[in-house]
Amino acid sequence: MHLGAMQDWSLRVTRFIDHAAREHGSREIVSRWADGTESRTTWAGIRHDAMRMAQKLAKLGIKPGDRVATLAMNHHRHLVTWYGAVGVGGVLHTINPRLFDDQLDYIANHAEDRVMLFDAVFAPIIERMKPRWKTIEHYICFDSSGPAEHFEDWIATEDGQGEWADGDERDPCMLCYTSGTTGNPKGVLYEHRSTVLHAMIGMTPPLFSVDCRTVMLPIVPMFHAASWGLPWAGAAAGAKFVYSAVNDPAVLAELMEREAVTTSAGVPTVWLGLLQHFDTAGKDIPESLKTVVCGGSAMPRAMIERLMRSGIRVSHAWGMTETSPIGTSSAETWNWDDLSFDEQVSIKAMQGRAPFGVELRCVDLGDYSKVLPRDGKTSGALQVRGPWVVKRYFKAEADATDADQWFDTGDVAVIHPDGTLQLTDRTKDVIKSGGEWISSVELENAAVGFPGVAEAAAIGVYHPRWDERPLLVVVKKPGAEVCQDALREHLAGHVAKWWLPDAVVFVDEIPHTGTGKISKKDLRDQFRDWKWSA
Ligand code: AMP
Repeated sequence: MHLGAMQDWSLRVTRFIDHAAREHGSREIVSRWADGTESRTTWAGIRHDAMRMAQKLAKLGIKPGDRVATLAMNHHRHLVTWYGAVGVGGVLHTINPRLFDDQLDYIANHAEDRVMLFDAVFAPIIERMKPRWKTIEHYICFDSSGPAEHFEDWIATEDGQGEWADGDERDPCMLCYTSGTTGNPKGVLYEHRSTVLHAMIGMTPPLFSVDCRTVMLPIVPMFHAASWGLPWAGAAAGAKFVYSAVNDPAVLAELMEREAVTTSAGVPTVWLGLLQHFDTAGKDIPESLKTVVCGGSAMPRAMIERLMRSGIRVSHAWGMTETSPIGTSSAETWNWDDLSFDEQVSIKAMQGRAPFGVELRCVDLGDYSKVLPRDGKTSGALQVRGPWVVKRYFKAEADATDADQWFDTGDVAVIHPDGTLQLTDRTKDVIKSGGEWISSVELENAAVGFPGVAEAAAIGVYHPRWDERPLLVVVKKPGAEVCQDALREHLAGHVAKWWLPDAVVFVDEIPHTGTGKISKKDLRDQFRDWKWSA
């Protein structure tokens, strides 16, 4: 017996662009190019061009499931490509141009990319990699000055009057590789359905809080973790987008002010640069800016405080490529207005709570079968599950762990009784001293709160008595003097005494990975032969 039914309306990401063009067709998309020029289009324009691109890809024989790669910064032609690639039923593969050649080689060959669309600034990478990329048949350049057919000419032969490829909502739509600190990079294959559900949560107030009045400046690159889902969520909301193809703080600041940007999203390093720019230029953060979403690594407390004092709502988010990437966000609690400013900052400095669709748990670092209490004290390996969390990496064989459904994040965390997640380390970075865990992240957070410290990294170095002891590596701000004893005294106010680093080393630069995170692996190599003074 049938009790009635709802309609068949598959959750495909092309629904976003159809909706944006239909309901918010005139809302603007601005692109600021590397040469200082600008172009303006609309959601209706993006849809028209994406359809032309899908028609073109179909003529080239691109079939559902085929991978279409990009090597590009943030601009509207890249956005067109997102929708054009999925529009033909293909899988959009955004590649991080900052990766090393061997990784670029591995990724494009492993993905079996068939088309590559790139910015002219990355032409040297293309020239270098072309002989090594075996499966790429077509190279298209987003700029007219590049060494391949120009994107606009390429799609100009089509009329934009076609239909999107149809398919199942569980079909793949996007492929992102993780930076992979060890071994080869791993591909995470997002599905239409997972991407739609993720974007719908991304629109809500605890995350990007985006609607048709939002003017969004996404600083997070379109090649990093699906740009946090913004190209999808922004279309669903009909937000105005302001893109910059360069990450220069002066350019970003100018765009923010001129376009009255309300919302921006980026990693802490970018915000550090922007805040420094406002300071040196003697300017205030533009008044229009109301929401800042920051994640990818921990937001320093001083930065949160500074933004909140300027009346900005901070959303400190945790996630990873494997979680599409939304995992948690430091949303306001129900009793927010009763809290002191300091208490509010403390909440924002943690990674926040899970939205609907994400489940979290911590398990014992020594025995993963033991689930730990949410007591705000016991730290363990963080695991996550939900409809937009990876089940199996791209091309990985199905195995027994598939049934388990809990994904191991590689992060170490405590969960507070109210569900707030607090990251304390990476499983590989946590320092083990005399059998007890020391959080390198907490040491670093405390260190960057000290005046004159620009960046800090704590690593465990072999110690004959304690097995490992923390060594703090510090980069000073330009022209600043930092006294080691005063720094240790400052740290003593924030962490247990036995956590205090046994030595502080000042360096000119801390090594970073291709995605801009501190490379603890390189640091550990650098200080492998470190000798503690007796
Ligand atoms: P990726 O997949 O490159 O985005 O890296 C994901 C990893 O970045 C996570 O597993 C965390 O270790 C780290 N991460 C992301 N967001 C945060 C955050 N808000 N605080 C601390 N670490 C973070």
